[in-house]
Amino acid sequence: MPSTTVQDFKMQSIIDMGLQYINGFKTIKSARKKGKKVIAGFLPPLELGFCSEKTIPFFLPRFTEFPFQGLLEAFTKINKVRLLSLIIGFWDQINAFLSKINTAQTNMNSQAFVNTFSSLDNLSEKANFYLDSCIQTRICYGVYLKYKKYFDLLLGGFEGNYCLHFAKFYERIGRKKPVFYIEKPYGDNSLEHRRNLVRKELEDFFVILEQVTNENVDFNHAKKKMKLVNETRQMAALIFNKYYRKGYVPLHWVSSLLVHGAYTDSLSNIDFFHEKLRLLLTEIEQNMKKGTIRNYKKEGIPRILIAGSPGFDPALPQIIEKNGGCMLYIDIFSNYDKSNMIALNGDFIEKYTDYLLLNNFEKGTEDLMDFWIEKARLVKADGIVFNEVWGCRFITPSFKLLKDRARNELEIPVIGVNFHNFGENVGQISTRIEAFMELLT
Ligand code: SF4
Repeated sequence: MPSTTVQDFKMQSIIDMGLQYINGFKTIKSARKKGKKVIAGFLPPLELGFCSEKTIPFFLPRFTEFPFQGLLEAFTKINKVRLLSLIIGFWDQINAFLSKINTAQTNMNSQAFVNTFSSLDNLSEKANFYLDSCIQTRICYGVYLKYKKYFDLLLGGFEGNYCLHFAKFYERIGRKKPVFYIEKPYGDNSLEHRRNLVRKELEDFFVILEQVTNENVDFNHAKKKMKLVNETRQMAALIFNKYYRKGYVPLHWVSSLLVHGAYTDSLSNIDFFHEKLRLLLTEIEQNMKKGTIRNYKKEGIPRILIAGSPGFDPALPQIIEKNGGCMLYIDIFSNYDKSNMIALNGDFIEKYTDYLLLNNFEKGTEDLMDFWIEKARLVKADGIVFNEVWGCRFITPSFKLLKDRARNELEIPVIGVNFHNFGENVGQISTRIEAFMELLT
């Protein structure tokens, strides 16, 4: 059987990242009290929020308040004296005992998560947000409605350039809040107009940044922070190359999800995130030496890569586990090379333009297919589960393409699962995954 989350949550780096992640709302309130401006967003240009000492980036869904939020203060105090990992180890023993006599506790916890997200979805519905949108944009719009007074600027572009739902999301928020939307047309770097447009977009962004902060951008400061951003990418790549590619699964999907969430805005503090990622690497290496990180490839435990629209029912990885497999959620642990780094010599805007262009879509959805096929090939995945989100007109229609490519190029099977809303459709997911896993074991 695949290992549990408890081992990961004994790692100090995971505890620290987890507490900081769920502490998002408090972080924002205290930053604003200190006069900082909050730049909300979702994807890579978000690191531009580190370019001024007066701004911090913030991953919008981090505003979500979780059911156990009330315990946060106590957890943080205990963590300060470094007792939390011991308690988690102890909890492991208690839980093993409890699970033998009662599963209701676990079910209640998952239900509390589902309720949190459903309440945000309900807010969107009440505000007549587009009913044909996918659940991700609906939840994000709910977050916006509830917390709009806590951020100063919404920065978008990447995802909105290809996804109509996201574009409409920005457009709608833009009626009430300042939104800066970076346009990045498809195509390769031979198209000169593309480079000129992106450069102009960035110049305009920095003008807005100066207006928001009321001071000039210090590009030396920006480069200092981007150096740390680059290093976090190299560390993430190391986790991929050193462990996942060799068949090891150093992180359970829950903690991998946490690291991905933390990575999006570097927990609004790149120095902190850099330090924790470094600690994570050390702790993974220590676990390797202790022999607690298993090589699933060698053990014959099927490793299933998740592809398709991000945002899946938490029941999905649990069902894969119940059927003897392990879900690999490893998007950020990419095989970064120099072209994925922000060059730090010379004119910052010029170099950041290069970086954005190199990390952009050239063809459209086919780029995503290349990304997943390459990842599945590198980790020698045993299968791929494709998450088909209801309402998604960009990623979901590519299911057949991915299926054909995986069969022809990698000779591995792909299964599609439908996701509409949390907790819905679990029966169908179960039936499909069970049959799929039977095929692999
Ligand atoms: S799941 Fe599809 S529709 Fe939703 S935001 Fe992503 S690309 Fe857009």
